Amino acid sequence: MEKQYVYSFKEGNKDMKDILGGKGANLAEMTSIGLPVPSGFIISTEACKVFNENNKKLTDEINTQISKKLIELQNKMGKRFGDSKDPLLVSVRSGAAVSMPGMMDTILNLGLNDDTVEGLAEKTGNKRFAYDSYRRFIQMFGDVVMGVKHENFEKALESVKEEKEVEFDTELDEDDLYKVIELYKEAIQEEAGRLFPNDVYEQLDMAIGAVFASWDNDRANTYRRLNNIHGLIGTAVNVQSMVFGNMGDDSGTGVCFTRNPSNGENKFYGEFLMNAQGEDVVAGIRTPREIEELEKIMPENYKELVDIREKLEKHYKDMQDIEFTIEKGKLYILQTRNGKRTASSAVRIAVEMVEEGLISKEDALLKVEPGALDQLLHKQLDESDKKNAELLTKGLPASPGAAVGKIVFNAEDAKERAEKGEKVILVRIETSPEDIEGMNAAQGILTARGGMTSHAAVVARGMGKCCVAGCSGLVVNESKRIIEVGGGRFGEDSIITLDGSSGEVFAGKIKLIEPTLSGYFGKLMEWADEVRKLKVRTNADTPKDSQTAIKFGAEGIGLCRTEHMFFEADRIKAVREMILSDNKEGREKALAKILPMQKGDFYELFKVMDGRPVTIRFLDPPLHEFLPKEDSEIEELAEEMDVSVEKIKEKIEELHEFNPMLGHRGCRLAITYPEIAEMQSRAVFEAAVQVIEDGKTIIPEVMIPLVGNTKEFENQKEIVDRVAKEVMKENNVEFDYLVGTMIEVPRGAITADEIAEHAEFFSFGTNDLTQMGCGFSRDDSGRFLKEYVELGIYKNDPFQTLDQKGVGELMKIAIEKGKSVRKNIKLGICGEHGGDPSSIEFCHNIGLNYVSCSPYRVPIARLAAAHAALKEEKSKRMQMINEVVSDLKKQYGENVPLEKLEGILKSRVGWLCED
Ligand code: ADP
Ligand code: MG
Ligand code: MG
Repeated sequence: MEKQYVYSFKEGNKDMKDILGGKGANLAEMTSIGLPVPSGFIISTEACKVFNENNKKLTDEINTQISKKLIELQNKMGKRFGDSKDPLLVSVRSGAAVSMPGMMDTILNLGLNDDTVEGLAEKTGNKRFAYDSYRRFIQMFGDVVMGVKHENFEKALESVKEEKEVEFDTELDEDDLYKVIELYKEAIQEEAGRLFPNDVYEQLDMAIGAVFASWDNDRANTYRRLNNIHGLIGTAVNVQSMVFGNMGDDSGTGVCFTRNPSNGENKFYGEFLMNAQGEDVVAGIRTPREIEELEKIMPENYKELVDIREKLEKHYKDMQDIEFTIEKGKLYILQTRNGKRTASSAVRIAVEMVEEGLISKEDALLKVEPGALDQLLHKQLDESDKKNAELLTKGLPASPGAAVGKIVFNAEDAKERAEKGEKVILVRIETSPEDIEGMNAAQGILTARGGMTSHAAVVARGMGKCCVAGCSGLVVNESKRIIEVGGGRFGEDSIITLDGSSGEVFAGKIKLIEPTLSGYFGKLMEWADEVRKLKVRTNADTPKDSQTAIKFGAEGIGLCRTEHMFFEADRIKAVREMILSDNKEGREKALAKILPMQKGDFYELFKVMDGRPVTIRFLDPPLHEFLPKEDSEIEELAEEMDVSVEKIKEKIEELHEFNPMLGHRGCRLAITYPEIAEMQSRAVFEAAVQVIEDGKTIIPEVMIPLVGNTKEFENQKEIVDRVAKEVMKENNVEFDYLVGTMIEVPRGAITADEIAEHAEFFSFGTNDLTQMGCGFSRDDSGRFLKEYVELGIYKNDPFQTLDQKGVGELMKIAIEKGKSVRKNIKLGICGEHGGDPSSIEFCHNIGLNYVSCSPYRVPIARLAAAHAALKEEKSKRMQMINEVVSDLKKQYGENVPLEKLEGILKSRVGWLCED
């Protein structure tokens, strides 16, 4: 049997996204559940692959399949393609497995030419409508398929309007439109060097080819790169019979969401325009009306739409983003997909759907991307500061959060200035797909035109970026680089503040404040905690950070970097004194000054953490980091310490290292200067005693950094144990503590069995382990890693997302070897990766006990850990289901009775994931 490349809507379903694309699969699904979808067919993503591998041509086999489906469609519609009396018109729409808003262009009204347009005019009795449709088609086709810039068409249209001395397109009559059509065709011939194709079959071939080719264009590639979309083979093409929202005042078109995509409220939400077609709503050219108003204008269609809203949401068990068109009082649904939403609405929708009994808690958890929570941890405007600010104007609250920055007028400037470290706000009349990189680089986005479903709004929400759209009180002069708003004029160096949750725009800078975890968010986090197996700790060095982390649900400290405590003004002096000493005595004297301060820090930290585990890492960075670099600072220090400038310079010279990352740092410091480890041990244990005396509990975990050889660890452990004993004896108390190591040197990972003889825990320091494992300097790899990722040498920056194959393998070796001598060795991770969702999943799978990340990533880690546990559970269940099915097959043959299967599964499996 030959391979199927073309599917009618009746032949597909929602699970066929990979080959039908998201749009096609959902059009097919809606057709099968009886919704009013105009008929059509889908040319598969596999055909796209063939096309792009076959010199941008389809094979005869595929073309024959297309012809067959087109004949079927004609029969179904009772109209013929190219018929000069009553022509079938179609839209040609792209759609890959993952939705990419605005990425690939749709062509409407295809099938119109000089003959068929007359047929359409006759049949509809509306010549103006027919010519207007033809004009739109030529423009779209010229732009998308033939590469003629739309300015050319705008110019042509303007000239006719000027000649007639009118302002709006709607004021043009059929004769004017006829002129426009002629001018459009001329423009095409001039710009594209060939005639606009009058043959409808040629139109269709060219349009399909253009969509398939657009899979490979720059903006599609940029979008995929920015959104980390990999592994798709292409886009599908949907060929669908046209319906018309521009047939008069009983027609219209709109976009709606089953719930509010901005705040998640369970309320029908959307926008529409009467007597309009296709992209008019999202293009931001006319300002659309709110969906409720449709009830007054067309009550029956509105009711039908509300029923469909409910039906679709129940069917998909998720918030839907729906496109519809009404043609002469008849409603059609043109698209549905899971709606993009802000993180706060994602959380609210997930929680409320559980409360409504629509989905399970587990599915609710899986509906929220851990990384998206970042948005909820986003800044808000400080209300008291906001009161005093000058409100310039108000637009639509298109994407929440707050942003402060200088104005930029185009995407290139945004990118350039952001790369220089400036905080900028991209201000545009309206955005288009070319602006994506600039939007990504900006703090926030402000547009003068467009609704809640405009390009700017949709893309900003997807990026989790603050956006105020459709700000009609704003005049943007992009060429003069000036905005006029609220009676003032602002240029490129003016700072403005946006509130994406209210739509307000302010002059100047308003203080931003940190977010909290409560309400729906808190509930979802509780559910995450019920299912996750990994513990979540935080990397924190101060009581304040620790408190923040606890508020976000941290269960302990996985990494307290003690060196940060050394930098405060009063301490750095003593630290420098230690470094500048020539002998042990001098060092001890300086360390004695540091001891009470460090002990005080630990005491405060232990108090806050009360009973939760705290891992303290001993001094890690090379000593020269504590010495001044500028001459003036050196002079100041010399004076303060009463030594000569030369002596300090000499010492700096002496401490200079060619490769400090691999130099005298980590445990190497305290092995050569054991008094440092002694002081730090004493500070930890004396603080512990003090906390215990307060009646609190603490089990300190002392962590030795940069161990590559067990002898290094043994050396340090001897000191820690000895000081612990001394402190116990001096205070006449007993306390528990652990001594463990970081695994961050490849040799340490490979000899982990030897180290585990002595170490009570391992914490993977994956920053250094990546640096030394991949051989990439953390400080220098920025120069080439971006390109490495673009070239696909590494799929992600290995410093952000764990390189599972290499660095992950080192971790697995260390775990296996460590467990072989100490079965219950405590395992954690404290590198940056401890806050990265996909790395967290890996940590779960290799059996770590906890991850540790910065305070603001703690909620993300909690949810990611829950996802990891659920995914594992799901795959176990899938395995069990497969076993049950194969058992049943033995009994019943190939056609297993579904009730039997369901019966057994229900009794064995509680929660079944949706798919
Ligand atoms: P996008 O992927 O950019 O959303 P679509 O393929 O959904 O592009 O097309 C954009 C718009 O064109 C739709 O929202 C709809 O209004 C209009 N459209 C597409 N196909 C048809 C059709 N068969 N009849 C009427 N309008 C259509
Ligand atoms: Mg669409
Ligand atoms: Mg390290």
